[in-house]
Amino acid sequence: MLIVLIGPPGAGKGTQAALIVEELGIPHLSTGEMLREAKYAGTELGKLAAGYMDHGNLVPDEVIVGVVAARLTEPDCANGCLLDGFPRTLNQAEVLDRLLAQQERKIDHVVQFECDDDLLVRRLLERAKVENRVDDTLETIAHRQRTYREEVKPIIQHYGDQGLLRVVNGMQSRNEVFEEIWQQISPGEPGG
Ligand code: AMP
Repeated sequence: MLIVLIGPPGAGKGTQAALIVEELGIPHLSTGEMLREAKYAGTELGKLAAGYMDHGNLVPDEVIVGVVAARLTEPDCANGCLLDGFPRTLNQAEVLDRLLAQQERKIDHVVQFECDDDLLVRRLLERAKVENRVDDTLETIAHRQRTYREEVKPIIQHYGDQGLLRVVNGMQSRNEVFEEIWQQISPGEPGG
């Protein structure tokens, strides 16, 4: 099953992604995580991405698309995967559609998290402390929320038009959010 998660930073995508991939046995492709790993490893990709990430800006489409395209062709993605943090722009969504079509695959569900801004900022500042994430300051958080809001509208429209959108309330508890997601994507009972 191929799933895309869409939601503002701090909406709990990472937490839910972990639960979903465990239940479905598919890999979790977090582009933010992939870029952070590249940054800490000091690879060329990491050095390039760091300049954008540290200011809360998106990495250029051609860079991130290359990373995702390569990852999608790895054997563990043959039965699907969960995309978290990608696509972030309409162009990325359109390129992804074309990539998947070439491989005779398609997205099954796009799960969209809805969450109030106040709660998001509180959660992100908390996470920045716990995880010592230098890219999560109040300034970059605010900038990333604005970037997200601007970028996400056409993507939501795009997937809405394709009938793929499953909206969930991200302000509930971890288990309640997962229940809501599972009801919409479930091929059967959780754990069953
Ligand atoms: P995240 O952990 O998903 O919030 O991503 C952290 C940072 O990685 C973002 O602020 C961007 O700089 C970069 N990034 C992650 N995914 C993408 C993407 N799909 N397109 C462009 N930049 C991305």
